[in-house]
Amino acid sequence: MTYPLLFPRGECSWNTGMEHVEERRPAKRTHVTQLQYYAYRLSQRNGFSILHSSGKLFQQYIVDAYVKTEGSRLQFLRQNQKDLRIELYRGLLDALECRAHNENIRTGKLIILPSSYQGSPRPMQQNYQDAMAMVRKFDSESKIRTKDDIDKFVSAELPDPCTDLRVFQIVTKCMVHGPCGTINMNSPCMRDGQCCKSFPKQFKDDTEENVNEYPIYRRRATEPVQVGKYSIDNRWVVPYNPWLIKTFNAHINVEVCASVKSVRYLYKYVYKGHNAASVKIQKEGSLDHDEI
Ligand SMILES: [Zn+2]
Repeated sequence: MTYPLLFPRGECSWNTGMEHVEERRPAKRTHVTQLQYYAYRLSQRNGFSILHSSGKLFQQYIVDAYVKTEGSRLQFLRQNQKDLRIELYRGLLDALECRAHNENIRTGKLIILPSSYQGSPRPMQQNYQDAMAMVRKFDSESKIRTKDDIDKFVSAELPDPCTDLRVFQIVTKCMVHGPCGTINMNSPCMRDGQCCKSFPKQFKDDTEENVNEYPIYRRRATEPVQVGKYSIDNRWVVPYNPWLIKTFNAHINVEVCASVKSVRYLYKYVYKGHNAASVKIQKEGSLDHDEI
C-alpha cells in the first residue's frame, strides 16, 4: 500500500484483469488499459475528491502513475519488436553491422522504438524533415521582415478605445508590463535595481527591423491612460497580436523572430524535457542497440 492517506481502505488500483463496464465495453478491447484507468482517476468531477485535494501527495501520485504507464508501454514495445517490423529499418541494421565489424565484435540485441513513440530518434528525424520542408517552401520572400509586415502582425501600443474597445480593455488588463522601475521597485521583474525585461521601453515613431534580434516596435508618444493606480503609456505595452488576444482574452506575448533558428527553438521548447542523464550498460564484446 503506497498511499495509505489517499486510499485508507486499501482500494484496488489498476490491474490487468480490470474490465470496462458492460454498457461502455467496445467489441475489441474489453479490458481497461493503464492509461485509461489513470485518465479516469485524474478527471475532475463535481463534489469532493480526496485525490485532487491532497496537494503534494497528489503530484507524487501523478508522477507515479506516469512512470508506471510509461514503463509498461516501453515493456510492451520491448516484447513486441517482431510486430513492429524492425526488419524495415534496414539502414540502421546495416550501420550497426558495419560498426560491429569494424570494432571486431558481434551485433547483439536490437531494440527499436517505433515512430509513434514521441521523443525517440524516428519522430525526431521526421520532425526535422517536416521543418526543413517548411523552410524550403516558405523561403526568405515569405518571412516577416519589412516594417509594414511587422506592424501588420505585432503591435506594442495601446489601441484606440473608440476603434476597438474590447482590444483596448484586454491590452490594459493583460498586456501592460509591471509597472516597475522607479514607479514600483518591488515588482518581481526587478534585478539589481533594473527591470530584467528592460521596461519601460523607449518611445519610437517607427518600427525598426532587427535581423538577428527582436525588432524594435513602434511606440508612439501618446497621451497616457489610467490603468489601476498607474498612468500608463505605450512604453509599458508588451508586444501582442490584436486578433490573438481578442480571440483568447489572455496575455499572449507575440514577437517576430524570422531567422531559420526559430525552427530549432520551437522543437527545443517542445521536446527538451527535464534535466536527465542516460547511463548505458553494455555486454563486453557485443554491440547492442537498445533505444529504450
Ligand atoms: Zn519590469
